Amino acid sequence: MITIEKTPECGVCGSNLMIPYREYPTILWHNGHLDLSMCKSCGNVYPATRPTETSSIISNSVLFEAKILYKEMMVTQPSDYYYKRVVDRLIFQSTSTIRTLWDAECGTGRMLKRIRNNIHAFGSTKNIYACNLIEDAGIKVHHGYPHNMMMDGVIAPNSVDVVTMIRSLGYSYNVSGDIQSGVEALREGGLLYISLYNFSKMKDNPLGGYLNYPRRHVLMSLFTKLGVKPMFTETIDNELHLIGRKNTR
Ligand SMILES: [Zn+2]
Repeated sequence: MITIEKTPECGVCGSNLMIPYREYPTILWHNGHLDLSMCKSCGNVYPATRPTETSSIISNSVLFEAKILYKEMMVTQPSDYYYKRVVDRLIFQSTSTIRTLWDAECGTGRMLKRIRNNIHAFGSTKNIYACNLIEDAGIKVHHGYPHNMMMDGVIAPNSVDVVTMIRSLGYSYNVSGDIQSGVEALREGGLLYISLYNFSKMKDNPLGGYLNYPRRHVLMSLFTKLGVKPMFTETIDNELHLIGRKNTR
């Protein structure tokens, strides 16, 4: 049973001032539509109502199992290429060898599986199904939200070289909290990699159920606030890729 609630506040800046988003008034969600709003304060786009956090995890988990069985059977060349490019961009921007990597909201571990031979990489996911799958593949993974990893002391502050958030923030209930946790986990000079689907691609995906859509300028202002210097920004095949470096004091 999926419960819908009124979205209390913007998941990026915390403001509760919202206006209807006229450009795309609704998004598909399961069998219906959700009205879209735009945050008056930061421009984040999100539905005026949303599944409660617990409902969202339940629905994602059910969908997830079906999608995974399908997807995991096809480890395709395009996805190999995709993750190789992510790692190449990180290596290019890094001033030293990348030893530790945290893939926050790592999905089914598609990236972790591909890089684990070269980098000490681990993941975290709020989805218990995904967690079990990744563990079965012999990869270290923590269960919970990115902010739990920091608040509960699962990951030590200033301890990792790279944090990746690949195509995950659009589904986050707390975009700014997730990014902040990522930055806290990074050592000084460490890199944060964010990628985000193009809005029109997400809005047409009825299984997406995304909850926050931070715009590029919103992510940029978060970077500034958290002391992260943008190093790489590019939109490739309708997907935004951002790399930031945590400032040294
Ligand atoms: Zn906002």
